[in-house]
Amino acid sequence: MSRLLVIGCGGVASVAIRKCCQNSGIFSEIMIASRRKEKCDALKAKLQGTTGTRIDTAQVDGNCAKEVISLIRAYKPDAVLNVALPYQDLTIMDACLATGTDYIDTANYEPEDTNDPHWRRMYEKRCRELGFTALFDYSWQWDYRERFEKAGITALLGSGFDPGVTGVFSAYALKHYFDEIHTIDILDCNGGDHGYPFATNFNPEINLREVSSPGSYWEDGRWIETKPVELKSRYDFPQVGVKDMYLLHHEEIESLAKNIPGVKRIRFFMTFGQSYLTHMKCLENVGLLSTSPVLYEGREIVPIQFLKALLPDPAALGPRTVGKTNIGCIFTGIKYGKEKSIYIYNVCDHQACYREVESQAVSYTTGVPAMIGAMMVVTGQWKKPGVFNVEEFDPDPYMEALNRWGLPWLVCENPAPVKVWRADEE
Ligand code: NDP
Repeated sequence: MSRLLVIGCGGVASVAIRKCCQNSGIFSEIMIASRRKEKCDALKAKLQGTTGTRIDTAQVDGNCAKEVISLIRAYKPDAVLNVALPYQDLTIMDACLATGTDYIDTANYEPEDTNDPHWRRMYEKRCRELGFTALFDYSWQWDYRERFEKAGITALLGSGFDPGVTGVFSAYALKHYFDEIHTIDILDCNGGDHGYPFATNFNPEINLREVSSPGSYWEDGRWIETKPVELKSRYDFPQVGVKDMYLLHHEEIESLAKNIPGVKRIRFFMTFGQSYLTHMKCLENVGLLSTSPVLYEGREIVPIQFLKALLPDPAALGPRTVGKTNIGCIFTGIKYGKEKSIYIYNVCDHQACYREVESQAVSYTTGVPAMIGAMMVVTGQWKKPGVFNVEEFDPDPYMEALNRWGLPWLVCENPAPVKVWRADEE
């Protein structure tokens, strides 16, 4: 029996909240708090009467630590699940520290304003020292480790699918299938079709920032950076079929490189159709992906935020998205002195997700692990003082929970390897 404060009420949050309500034996009380209380109230109205979980709602600005602290002091949750945006990670962690409350999120910190001088100084230092230029990295949240240790509270970072389940798959592979893991290829395939010429499956601002950035991968102890979508591959995904995919920078590469001992190479690939890439390039060329404010009729607007307002709301894609996602990891390494490879993956059907929780599979595959991460912490199965990524805990109870709560996984031996070439060679 526990009390959870959920911050955010968008696509991912709605699934996490519905899953908490299905799991009322653990989550007996939740508070939904977001920038707009009316959204929280609307979700509460839909769920009330269908669940044993008591639901309260509140308005909160996650950018304001003082507001989050007041809300935590008033509600007294056992943990805070941050499913707002990565921009709010640090203020919500500050509030958890101030109140001695455990913290869970699904995405690592990135600044809303990339012109902030403090962030820019740190960013330039990191680019020089570490060698990758993505706008997001774990250093900001890992810096809280000692303070969380001293406060005796847990921060569980990145409990979505990727990052999240992909890290748990890695810990599981290491525990049960390998003595040493040498390579990890993370493959994120969305074989779904929403019927729009262009839309993103989660927050457009975060998604477009990620895909239009330089790619990078980890090899032999260092980062190798590529141009955006420079490296391409094609894979025949079980239950989905053949899809083109591109190498991207992704945050779990950073944590897995630290936490999987001896790993030699980690890469991340995401599938995109040509139409998505052509639209994105065109929007970039006209300046609509810029995060720097421009003056329009005497008012400052941030182009990518304006674009977000024009694009379909990912939370509204559910009824019209058909097809399946397949997300997983291919591992190679050694067991009992012999080379081996396995593929662990989950397949999720967009329409089945919609029938269950009124969301498409991208929100579903993130919202379910968000609930499971919160469950691991509030039940004490994954609880120790400090700041941790998911692969630092015992993967077994999380893997069991994935099967139970809607994301069953499969292990296949000797999968086809991933071959990579330059996209402009085709
Ligand atoms: P949405 O834009 O749909 O939802 C974000 C929610 O946060 C909205 O309800 C929004 O309010 C609220 N919010 C925004 N700013 C504030 C603020 N200052 N204070 C309080 N609430 C705020 O995003 P998604 O649901 O698609 O994504 C949620 C998170 O999940 C993101 O961090 C994203 O990066 C992460 N994610 C992780 C994945 C993974 O596999 N690990 C995959 C996909 C997403 P309002 O409704 O008013 O706009």
